Amino acid sequence: MQELYRQVIMDHYKYPRNKGLISDSKALMIHLNNPTCGDEITIQLFTEEGNIKKVLHEGSGCSICCASASVMSVALEKHTIKEGIQIISEFYELIKGMPYNTDILFKDAVAFSGVSQFPARIKCATLSWKAVEKGLQSIKEESHG
Ligand code: ZN
Repeated sequence: MQELYRQVIMDHYKYPRNKGLISDSKALMIHLNNPTCGDEITIQLFTEEGNIKKVLHEGSGCSICCASASVMSVALEKHTIKEGIQIISEFYELIKGMPYNTDILFKDAVAFSGVSQFPARIKCATLSWKAVEKGLQSIKEESHG
């Protein structure tokens, strides 16, 4: 099982999905860093009428951080903003080693469940999710006044 998880993480690290930002004034950009590990990430969030159209990411860091950003970008696309926020909180449960809802979480995210045993890596695994969460929350607040 551990070996399988490692392979999933390495696959997203080597072949990141949705990596690279584009020039688009409609996108929301969020930058976060994790000084303890040296991870840096910028998220570019595209939403339309309460839906997440696309999430792009760019940055540098450890394999856990980069792979997690790739998984996050796939996990959230084509969901509503409300669902996206729920998916993010399920991922936090998974990372903490708590029970989580497998129905809504992209299956590759499960590869990060082992991170709960390494508290120092939790920040690496959640950095991109924290960035996108910040963006989604700000859009949600804006639309509800
Ligand atoms: Zn890291």
